[in-house]
Amino acid sequence: MIDSIKHKGQRRQMISKLRKKGITNKKVLTALEIVPRHFFMDTALEDYAYEDKAYPITANQTISQPYTVALQTQLLELNKGEKVLEIGTGSGYQSAILLAYGDLKVFTIERQNELFKKTSLLFKKLGLKPKKTIFGDGYLGYPKEAPFDSILVTAGVIEVPKSLLSQLAIGGRLVIPIGYNEQIMTRYIRKGEKDFDIQTYGSFKFVPLLKNK
Ligand code: SAH
Repeated sequence: MIDSIKHKGQRRQMISKLRKKGITNKKVLTALEIVPRHFFMDTALEDYAYEDKAYPITANQTISQPYTVALQTQLLELNKGEKVLEIGTGSGYQSAILLAYGDLKVFTIERQNELFKKTSLLFKKLGLKPKKTIFGDGYLGYPKEAPFDSILVTAGVIEVPKSLLSQLAIGGRLVIPIGYNEQIMTRYIRKGEKDFDIQTYGSFKFVPLLKNK
């Protein structure tokens, strides 16, 4: 895994803030402590990398706030060897957290070509190895590799895409922000073919999951 001495102290401070905000999963906290978020930000904004805020990246998109990344990862309740699908690769930071979490097969989809290319290159440079970085429409999921034990959506939707529910394994978790101006963090756990447990975890602001025309 990539390592960076730079900003180590700031990362530690960020972790103690995340703990206070209710992140308890040790593997999630360790992943956020290890991964240098500044590698995933525009150079001009590097000094702000450990502020608990979202920042602009290429193509009017954003790198999610560390708390949001930590909470979404925690809500996935990941187990060893599981298959995870991330919708919205963006900067690649969330993918890097999943890879640092360890022992997961990570698939990630991005629809914006410039970002897809830029982040694919960054993964290579940093030695990060998702199973696959996919250029495509996340609304469709990734049927080729379904079912997934976890699906994580990092952009806001108005309603939950049926394709994503159908690509969840039994026992699988989908974490997705739902809403128009603000999104409610929602987790679906698949109990049976058509049986889902649904829980909500507070209000957030995401860029929208865009539909291909
Ligand atoms: N996980 C990212 C968050 C990026 S913001 C990170 O850690 O930085 C959301 C991302 O979703 C953007 O990069 C945007 O281009 C992408 N996106 C929007 N609509 C999409 C779609 N239909 N399919 C796949 N990606 C999409």
